[in-house]
Amino acid sequence: MELPRVTQVFGSATTWKQLLSMTRLRFFNIVHEVPFWAIALIMIVFVLISGHFAGRSNGVEVWPVTYLMVAVVSGQSGLFLVIIGALYAGELMWRERDVRFEQIHDSLPLRDWADFVSKFLALTLVETVLASVVLVCGLLSQAMEGYFRFELGQYAKEIYLIYLPQMLMVILLALFLQTVLGNKFVAHAIVVGFFVLIPVLYQYGIENRLYLYGEITPYTYSDMNGYGHFVRGLFWSISYWISVGGLLGVFAVSFARRGTEQSFASRLKAAWPRMARLTPTATVFLLLGGTSGGVFYYNTHVVNKFRTAEQNRHRSAEYERRYKKYQRLAQPKVTAVDAEVDIYPERRSFSGRGYYTLVNHTDKPIDEVHVTDSRESVEDVNFDRPFRQTLGDKEYFYATYQLDKPLEPNESMRMNFRVAYTSRGFKDGNERPEFAYNGTFFDRDYFPFVGYNQSDEIDDPVRRREEKLAPLEEMAAPGDPYYSNINLFTSDSEWVTFHSIVSTSADQIAMAPGYLKRDWTVNGRRYFEYDMGSTRINNFFSFLSGRFSVKRDQWRDVKLEIYYQPGHEYNLDKMMDASKTGLDYYEKNFGPFQFQQFRVLEYPRYRQFAQSFPNTVPFAEGIGFIERLKKPDDIDLLYFVTAHELAHQWWGHQLIGSQTQGSNMMSESLAEYSALKVMEKKYGEDMLRKDLRYELDRYLRGRGGETRHEPPLVLVQREPYVWYQKGALVMYALADYIGEDRVNLALRNFLEKNRYAKGPYPDTRGFVAALREQTPLDLQYVITDMFESIVLYDNRAVTGSYVETPEKKFKVTLKVSAQKKKADGSGNETPMTIHDLIDVGVFSGTKEHLKRLNLHKEWITQETGTFEMVVDEKPTFAGIDPYNKLIDRNPADNLIEVEKK
Ligand SMILES: [Zn+2]
Repeated sequence: MELPRVTQVFGSATTWKQLLSMTRLRFFNIVHEVPFWAIALIMIVFVLISGHFAGRSNGVEVWPVTYLMVAVVSGQSGLFLVIIGALYAGELMWRERDVRFEQIHDSLPLRDWADFVSKFLALTLVETVLASVVLVCGLLSQAMEGYFRFELGQYAKEIYLIYLPQMLMVILLALFLQTVLGNKFVAHAIVVGFFVLIPVLYQYGIENRLYLYGEITPYTYSDMNGYGHFVRGLFWSISYWISVGGLLGVFAVSFARRGTEQSFASRLKAAWPRMARLTPTATVFLLLGGTSGGVFYYNTHVVNKFRTAEQNRHRSAEYERRYKKYQRLAQPKVTAVDAEVDIYPERRSFSGRGYYTLVNHTDKPIDEVHVTDSRESVEDVNFDRPFRQTLGDKEYFYATYQLDKPLEPNESMRMNFRVAYTSRGFKDGNERPEFAYNGTFFDRDYFPFVGYNQSDEIDDPVRRREEKLAPLEEMAAPGDPYYSNINLFTSDSEWVTFHSIVSTSADQIAMAPGYLKRDWTVNGRRYFEYDMGSTRINNFFSFLSGRFSVKRDQWRDVKLEIYYQPGHEYNLDKMMDASKTGLDYYEKNFGPFQFQQFRVLEYPRYRQFAQSFPNTVPFAEGIGFIERLKKPDDIDLLYFVTAHELAHQWWGHQLIGSQTQGSNMMSESLAEYSALKVMEKKYGEDMLRKDLRYELDRYLRGRGGETRHEPPLVLVQREPYVWYQKGALVMYALADYIGEDRVNLALRNFLEKNRYAKGPYPDTRGFVAALREQTPLDLQYVITDMFESIVLYDNRAVTGSYVETPEKKFKVTLKVSAQKKKADGSGNETPMTIHDLIDVGVFSGTKEHLKRLNLHKEWITQETGTFEMVVDEKPTFAGIDPYNKLIDRNPADNLIEVEKK
């Protein structure tokens, strides 16, 4: 029998048709597989569960805004997409072989590239569908959380332009490995290996993303700034790796297996002619990869000097090695700052000029002025008298200037300088967070520092060892004759007067501490003049610029303003309320507020803190502006932080300690205490229990992680868990023991005595004395234990029961045990004899919502004790120190359920 002859037409139309049908076939093959559905379903469940927690950051509830949600859903689903991409890359490459179909398939007249491309397209389609599912999960999660401001544009950018391309890089790598290697599982192992290896390489300082397959430049989305200055780095790094992936694809096509011949040598032989045919395609990818890699390299290594984290540490270490010898060199002090600063938000740059008034407050002439320039932003330092530069060590941030005529004691002079920072191109990570198209915020660090700056030293003990530096110097003891005259915050300055003119682009508002004197526009730029008048401030100022909306209010004669990103209106009223309640409480209890304005300014979430400059508080967009209290007893961190930063206008901006042990508590612990009291005014004493418990847990965790030694509060050096958490707890407890009024009186007296002290600056000896003055004799031990020692309690409710009395009351019997130990800060503890006044109490209600029926203090003089209390209501709980006012290493066992006997 004769078969009819068929004319074979292998033109390009046919190839496209084949490509499409093969892609379709392969796509449906994959999505009909059970494992695919299993993985996809697990992914969806996983993503939806995590989506539920997207609005929770560091234990605080916030609105699940799109950047949080999209980060969670893409982060949680990434591994699933990688698994599916890699798994089915293997299956597609080996399917024909596994089912012993390869001889038929491979003899089909399908072009090599079309075969490969259809596999790639099928996988791309699969991943696109999955990525879209992830996107929908994000929207669903937001809706389920009651958040309906759907930002589809941002979702699309993040999912399809950043997330999906990274998955395509995985697919291309997997397809390449599956083709070139003769073993499916080895190829899988290598793909997995990549994902394990890359974080390890970062650990070892291999951070150059041009060598780390598929690694794109790090970025942060901000509501104020969008993808902002990260766009270019993202575009070029993604283009680069997609091109490299494309090149891998070309190699894979050349090496594709055909027929039964499978030895590597023979495939190599077969690859050459194919490679030749693929040269044009390879050239395109090479050109694209070369260009994008080149642009990336040029920006990240040529325009911006690329330094690894380790290299940056070497520089700080070398600065210390070279110049620490000058730490105690007599230098004049800054007493006035005048600056003109031009901010160019669209270029993420600024330039400025200014002068310091320097005064010689030593008793000897000074003939050399030293300058630290840790941000490499200072230029052109000169003086109002002849001088010559004797050292200019740009690499290690230091310069010295010899004055022809020395500065005599009590004489003052002017030091002029220029400052500037210019962003050029883009960096691979380590972009300076201070500069943004919308939301510039930089501070005095960009201005010259007179002398050696100890705060530029590396403080991580491990890193110091690596750099062969001695352990960080201990701070001087209170009363140290030298450091008593050094200001805790700015060792090169005294109190200063401050005046500035700030300019920015026409659509932005520029700010600096001080009162707005005038604003005007010249050549399309807006100018603002700020003056602090005669009010003295710390030499600690900031410049900000942004497209803000402004909310205004008034508390007595104080103007209140919040500069915020439109759309972030959620908590503005509460922020105002915290400011007013705070001003009210602080003025009444501590003394007058020194300014006539208080301003909070939102800045992009590249950094996450709020900071108190004189009458000006920059507040990160991510930490309060989007807060959302879900339950009535959720901790209101926004309220607390606002009150804390406001309190620093007293504790830090009126009172500054000397640069000695303990001084940090006189700003941070007092700001914490003040804020707790404001919280108490707003939310009531019972609500505060949760805050105190939160502080206690964090303190215990902090001391558990201590790598040096833990100091008592009044000797705290650089231990934030002591000055924040322990400080808040013990100040609050002291107020509970001796009364809030007495504590506040002690604070007021101490502040009055030391307000704007010039040196010697106050230290914690005077502070403790002020507290002791207000403390009755039998409670003096509280100050010794809490402030001057490290004392830990282990209080426990052992048993609790009650009987109904004939008068229809309830008699509760509570058995407790109480222990007290003194810690030496290095892990050793010694038991102490207990002779302490401690709360005991009886409650009704649930553990979460206790209602106090009887709460009073008892002198506990033995390690176990039994107490009887008669209450009117049926009790549910009883306990010792039930509110965790004391530092109790096991705070959970202080309360016990009472049973009817
Ligand atoms: Zn603070």
